[in-house]
Amino acid sequence: MKILHVCAEFYPLIKTGGLADVTGALPKVLNKLGEQCRILIPGFPAIKSGIKDAQVVKNLDTFAGQATILFGYYNDMGIYIIDAPHLYNREGSPYHDIYQNAYADNYLRFALLGWIASELACGLDYYWQPDIVHSHDWHAGLTCVYLNLKQSYHHAKSIFTIHNLAYYGNFDHYHLHQIQIPESFYHIDGLEYYGQISYLKAGLYYSDHITTVSPTYAKEITTAKLGNGFDGLLQTRAQQHRLTGILNGIDDDVWNSTKDTLIATRYNKRNLRNKKTNKYFLQIEFDLDINNKQPLFCVISRLTKQKGLDLVLSLLPEILDRGGQFILLGSGDDDLHQAFSKVANHHQYKNNMAIYYGYNEELSHRIIAGADILMMPSRFEPCGLTQLYALKYGTLPLVHRTGGLADTVIDSTIENLDNKTATGFSFIDCNQDGLRYAVNRAFELWQTHQTWRILQQRAMSQPFSWHDSAKQYQQLYYAI
Ligand code: ADP
Repeated sequence: MKILHVCAEFYPLIKTGGLADVTGALPKVLNKLGEQCRILIPGFPAIKSGIKDAQVVKNLDTFAGQATILFGYYNDMGIYIIDAPHLYNREGSPYHDIYQNAYADNYLRFALLGWIASELACGLDYYWQPDIVHSHDWHAGLTCVYLNLKQSYHHAKSIFTIHNLAYYGNFDHYHLHQIQIPESFYHIDGLEYYGQISYLKAGLYYSDHITTVSPTYAKEITTAKLGNGFDGLLQTRAQQHRLTGILNGIDDDVWNSTKDTLIATRYNKRNLRNKKTNKYFLQIEFDLDINNKQPLFCVISRLTKQKGLDLVLSLLPEILDRGGQFILLGSGDDDLHQAFSKVANHHQYKNNMAIYYGYNEELSHRIIAGADILMMPSRFEPCGLTQLYALKYGTLPLVHRTGGLADTVIDSTIENLDNKTATGFSFIDCNQDGLRYAVNRAFELWQTHQTWRILQQRAMSQPFSWHDSAKQYQQLYYAI
């Protein structure tokens, strides 16, 4: 089957979060399972410089100006690139400028992405037409509208995956005409969302099937609490069996402690002494006190309200006073950055806490390999990949029990320790007391070396492979 993945991120060329990890892995694994996936992505500088020998498929005059469709390969993955420098030739984030301001023409930049996807379904590339057009997040949401508009010209089915329901892609209604969508689509039963056009809702409403990235999040988004106003629509789609939660997996080519060339010493679950060596080098790198007595907590995250880092911040002095160490790798909200810096600069904590503000892929591997505990107290979490990587590296996750975190981390309660299922720590009440409850238990278990090691080994044995998840997508493609 021919499957076109439509997206704005692709690991390793352009990444701001988990979306890139998914589009970098899922199509690759589907191809191994016998499918023929290709990717469509805007021609951001990193994409054009990463895919050197792309050939011209077609020159087009579109509602968003001139665009050339190129096709090339990255590590055997076929990629269509929309080369439109006036829209995409901007360094850094795909979505905003260096001051975090969303680009004013995002409505046009991502409408073109959806429109080209629909053109590919209609035969833009004479030699390759998709049977499934699988679009990801709001950036690609209009794909489903354009496919709907052109339904007599193609046979493709559309899938829309929600990686995060909190990003709506909302734009002014008056853009509709420019992006060539009829006024009749601007309706509550359509892409209208509180007086604006929502590219996310376009995907939710017009796709043949919706998926999201964990079974628990698939249920949560049908509730008023986490549905962001889309819960009614999502309930309807769930009742029609058009909403499925499929857990993300781990790309074994990228996150594998036995082969990882980015870490100081490779290790497996029978050789956890080498993990301690990674901790040693991490402590040196960050100028922390060097020992293995203190549990080393870490956070690797976008700094946003979603991730619950204000809770971490509020408990940080307690963690450090109790003898914990802490490393933060993150980028985003400047207020959070300043607040963490303030604690880190406190003379009392200097040797036990460090932060790196920015995005650094290589460092993220070193931290996951060297730390003992990964904190992820997200208020909501569609799937979360960082906790999966942590599990795989024997770094016990400490998480709020929500979304994909609830599906992947099994709390170290007495019962779960007894029945040999525990893999980390989780808490239910998303507040300081809830987090403290989990942190206390982490400190207690840290004292019992043997139990800790058993937990690490169990965490490292968890089966979160892309193979199983890709099989579920494959079944869905054939079923719709
Ligand atoms: P989200 O997609 O909401 O950001 P996920 O946990 O699903 O959260 O995915 C985040 C991805 O981005 C993971 O691969 C994580 O390791 C990576 N990541 C997040 N922040 C950073 C950072 N500052 N430096 C390097 N990698 C980061």
